[in-house]
Amino acid sequence: KLLHVQPLLAGVAQRFALQASRQQLTYRVHATEPSLAVYGDADMVNRVLDNLISNALKYTAPGGEIEVRVKVAGEFVTFAVSDNGIGIPAEDLPHVFERFYRVEKGRSRRRGGTGLGLALAREMVERMGGEIRIVSEPNRGTTVYVSLRRAEEAIV
Ligand code: ATP
Ligand code: MG
Repeated sequence: KLLHVQPLLAGVAQRFALQASRQQLTYRVHATEPSLAVYGDADMVNRVLDNLISNALKYTAPGGEIEVRVKVAGEFVTFAVSDNGIGIPAEDLPHVFERFYRVEKGRSRRRGGTGLGLALAREMVERMGGEIRIVSEPNRGTTVYVSLRRAEEAIV
C-alpha cells in the first residue's frame, strides 16, 4: 500500500504535542515534500512511530528535545526519531529489540513498561519489508531509524 509521509508526520506531531509540552520537552516534527510516499501499512507505521516517540518521551528529562525527521536515500525513506535523553549503555544496545528486554539499573523499572515496544516495532517494520536501527550513547541520547521502501508517485 502506498502511504503518503506528510500526513503521517502531521498525525504524530499532533498526537504527542500536548504530552511533550507537559514534560517541558521541545518536540519538533520536520515537514517533508507533500509527494513523498512509502510502501507500508498506515496502522503499523503509526504504531511504530508512536512506540519510538513514547520511548523518547519516557527516557528524556524535562528541558530535553525530541525530533522526528525524514530523509530520502535512493529507494528508501528513513524516519529518524531522536532524543537527547538518558541513552542506552553499549552493552545493552544489541538486546533492546528482544522481547521483554529492558535496561535496568533501576531506571526503566521506575518508569514502567514491559520491554515490548521495540520488539513489536521491529516485527512490524520487517513485515513491511523495512529495516530498523538504533544508535545511542549514555547521557547524550538515542536515535532510532526506520527505513521503508520509497513509493514512486504516479506520473502527473
Ligand atoms: P514498553 O515499550 O513495552 O512500554 P519499554 O519502553 O521499557 O516498555 P522498549 O520500548 O522495548 O520497552 O525499549 C526497551 C528498552 O530500551 C527500554 O526499557 C529502555 O531501557 C531502552 N530504551 C528504548 N528507547 C529508549 C530511548 N529513547 N532512550 C533511552 N532508553 C531507551
Ligand atoms: Mg517502549
